[in-house]
Amino acid sequence: MDHLKQLIREVPDFPKPGINFYDITTLLKDATGLQSVIGALHTRYRDVPCDLVLGIEARGFIFAPAVAYALGKGFVPVRKPGKLPAQKVRMEYALEYGTDSLEIHADAIQPGQRVVIVDDVLATGGTAAAVAGLVEKLGGTVTGLAFVIELDFLNGRGKLGGYDIHSVLHY
Ligand code: AMP
Repeated sequence: MDHLKQLIREVPDFPKPGINFYDITTLLKDATGLQSVIGALHTRYRDVPCDLVLGIEARGFIFAPAVAYALGKGFVPVRKPGKLPAQKVRMEYALEYGTDSLEIHADAIQPGQRVVIVDDVLATGGTAAAVAGLVEKLGGTVTGLAFVIELDFLNGRGKLGGYDIHSVLHY
């Protein structure tokens, strides 16, 4: 899979100095690259018991529905505050400076349902930990955390102990 790294554009100092941004738009527009990533995630999860695939706004929305479709499962969006129209549950999490929050519809997951969470990048793990918390708040079980890219040097896994984590590419 490492050949896919050639399709990912690294943009230094975006969105702020010191951040090396992994831009997946260059991978998405490549037909074979896109197929390879979705295919790899499908292969990894096709035998994992799962009822729903959950995607995190915004770039998780690019990959999660495609994975859900390939697996023949439903898709659930986790959104930034104020976007979901019906009754919802919110989780706040710490950023480098300050906090952020994410929301899910209260009826999106039924107790006992098994969920695979998909996002583009695992960095510090704060976002994924918050989303796993939302799933569990609703009574669901996190059966997998899937990422296209994992930044090993930030040790996001350290915040996600106990969960099964799979990343297509490691940096
Ligand atoms: P974190 O909560 O630190 O694991 O951050 C994860 C979220 O931030 C993901 O949803 C990514 O979209 C985004 N992100 C963090 N760092 C990067 C990076 N270096 N390049 C691209 N996206 C990033």
